[in-house]
Amino acid sequence: MSTLELEVVTPDKTVVRETVEMAVCPGVAGEFGVLPNHVSILSALKIGDLRYRVNGKDEHVFISGGFADMNNNVLSVLAESAEKAADIDTARAQAAKERAEKRLAEHSDTVDTTRAHAALARAIVRLQLAGH
Ligand code: ATP
Repeated sequence: MSTLELEVVTPDKTVVRETVEMAVCPGVAGEFGVLPNHVSILSALKIGDLRYRVNGKDEHVFISGGFADMNNNVLSVLAESAEKAADIDTARAQAAKERAEKRLAEHSDTVDTTRAHAALARAIVRLQLAGH
């Protein structure tokens, strides 16, 4: 079976380095699939689920947005933060969700709403992916 190399890297760690059968990325303009020997692509990613297949089984990784670059059969994903679904701490994500919701409910001038919306979106996607 033909395969591609997937790397998911953040500023502090390599989260995934695996030979995979395919990957589906959360592109800013919608999800897109990457198959072995796909043409070169560079795409911005949004907060979402990066899915990839190994031995016919789908794995899920949380991505906080970033970039995907496919070149010479290597898909490199660079993200500010990322973690495998199995490594998501649900209690931490729930606490982050509640904190963001509280900040947004305050309607205060001192709250950075763009930042709070982004934190809320990260927490919601982490909770959706936890345990996958
Ligand atoms: P928090 O407010 O809980 O820190 P956050 O969305 O601001 O959440 P990030 O800035 O996205 O956190 O990530 C900071 C680091 O913590 C990254 O290494 C990320 O992988 C890790 N991380 C954040 N939330 C979780 C979680 N719920 N489970 C596991 N790792 C997490």
